[in-house]
Amino acid sequence: MPSPIGHSLSGILLYQIFNKNVRYDTRRLFLYIFFSNLPDIDLALGFFVNNPNLYHQSIVHSLGAAVFVGLIASILITKRKELFLNSFLLFSGIYYSHVVLDYLASASDTSYPYGVALLWPLSNEHYVFPFMIFLDIWRGKSNETFFLGLFNYHNLQAIMIELVLFLTLIIIEDFD
Ligand SMILES: [Zn+2]
Repeated sequence: MPSPIGHSLSGILLYQIFNKNVRYDTRRLFLYIFFSNLPDIDLALGFFVNNPNLYHQSIVHSLGAAVFVGLIASILITKRKELFLNSFLLFSGIYYSHVVLDYLASASDTSYPYGVALLWPLSNEHYVFPFMIFLDIWRGKSNETFFLGLFNYHNLQAIMIELVLFLTLIIIEDFD
């Protein structure tokens, strides 16, 4: 998985792409960043059983979850009926972009499960991307070690790669 920094930057990039020629809207940008990070909520579930990685990149990181979350979010957030389909596609799409990004980082997965359940429920398979683009973020295996395990040189490198790639794309997109 890329870091929350990488996921947030991808949210900002998507905001830029889909909000051209409209007035800047902080609430809207926040929604993009929120849904870009949301799938990693499955790490929090693992804290209840002292194994934060246990449920990570399982069905919460999948096509089925993206459709489900998009549906719930559209019902809760969309006020005008005629915009429902738009919102559904948008929220599902942003959520799923996180899953795809994790897939792009899966070549460097160091803990089980390897890869991402990209297509669940259509397929139970965990897919691993064949090339290294982003680096997996290392973290501790128990509640006590999880946060301390984030501070290492490998993760710093991972974040630098995310910053370089996303900031480049954001700047290019901005000039477009
Ligand atoms: Zn993730």
